[in-house]
Amino acid sequence: MSLLTVVDDDAIANVSPAVPAVPDGRLHLYGVRAPELVALFADHGVVCTEAEARRILGRLLSEGHDSLEGMKRPVSKGVRAGLELLTRRTPLSIAEVVRDDVDGFEKFLLRLDDGALVEAVKIPLEKPGHFTVCVSSQVGCAMGCVFCATGRLGLRRQLQRFEIVGQVFAVRASLRPGERLTGVVFMGQGEPLHNYDEVIGAASVLSDPCGGRIDARNISISTVGLVPQMHRYAVEGHKFRLVVSLHSTVAQRRKALLPIARQWSIDEVAGAIRALHQASGDRVTVAFCLMAGVNTGIDEVQSLQALLGDVPLRINLIDVNDSRSIEDGGFRPPSALELRGLLDALQALKQPVVRRYSGGKNTEAACGMLASRHLADEAARAGLVTDAVG
Ligand code: SF4
Repeated sequence: MSLLTVVDDDAIANVSPAVPAVPDGRLHLYGVRAPELVALFADHGVVCTEAEARRILGRLLSEGHDSLEGMKRPVSKGVRAGLELLTRRTPLSIAEVVRDDVDGFEKFLLRLDDGALVEAVKIPLEKPGHFTVCVSSQVGCAMGCVFCATGRLGLRRQLQRFEIVGQVFAVRASLRPGERLTGVVFMGQGEPLHNYDEVIGAASVLSDPCGGRIDARNISISTVGLVPQMHRYAVEGHKFRLVVSLHSTVAQRRKALLPIARQWSIDEVAGAIRALHQASGDRVTVAFCLMAGVNTGIDEVQSLQALLGDVPLRINLIDVNDSRSIEDGGFRPPSALELRGLLDALQALKQPVVRRYSGGKNTEAACGMLASRHLADEAARAGLVTDAVG
């Protein structure tokens, strides 16, 4: 198996967001919590109490109103004027929505201020009327995982927290009366821990009682194994669920699938998983994207047992979703027989195993596909890539 992309070491080392300036200099409200709003006002000589800030954010972010008109307990005139002068709350603009009529997944393609496109996917849950949303954390991605369309396009830029929160609010605005958004997964475009501060900041706004009001335990953040950030996450003790995408624990195979594994070995990733468990006391969720003939053999189970058999895990299995043909280097999900063999072998580990559904395949609404098609079209026009996706 040849690697299609080499990870850009500089891009990984530089974790500060390379973001465009806000067009008019005003702070976007989707990215702030009450103490930050109070501090912003104070910097500009406007007196705003934390209670007032909470009421403002509760109305505009939690309840989704577009103005303060009609508040039961209005805020002062000075605060209202300061709000308009110093902040903005423009929703992300929706470029396209694609619904998969087979499974109900809906992909939202969203246009940012600088014209960049990101995707969010509205995922129906088993409980009728309940949804979770899959968000992107970057435009493109630097990690170059060989089975991923986004990875073949490279990193364009980091997303700011309001651009991440804005994806959730754009999807929330599509809900009908009685429907609820109860979870968020950071599993769209990008490696979330490569944009650590903005992702944790966005998750904090989304779980805030004056923000998205989503239970922190229902916010999942995935990583392909950025070891220093995993240790930082363990030390900081967040309540969100970190999902470690292992894909393989066999060292050479992992290196072939994930260029990042050349930088941090599987032993180092396992050490970080152990630290996460020790910090939280909880099971650590690990994920495998299953590829026929690649990572479904008994050696994977033996290797996982040897590496992490003593750590309580939750093992998520998801089928690969690759639009390329096998002749073009594409991967296929395992056959029913292959999967049965793997599930039987995993029983020996005595750890919970969960099959996750990779939805939206019928309309390119599976994670990473729609915006990647747009990015690929753009990149091909600019002469940046030759192996356009889709
Ligand atoms: S699988 Fe995730 S981390 Fe890997 S290249 Fe794709 S978007 Fe990036």
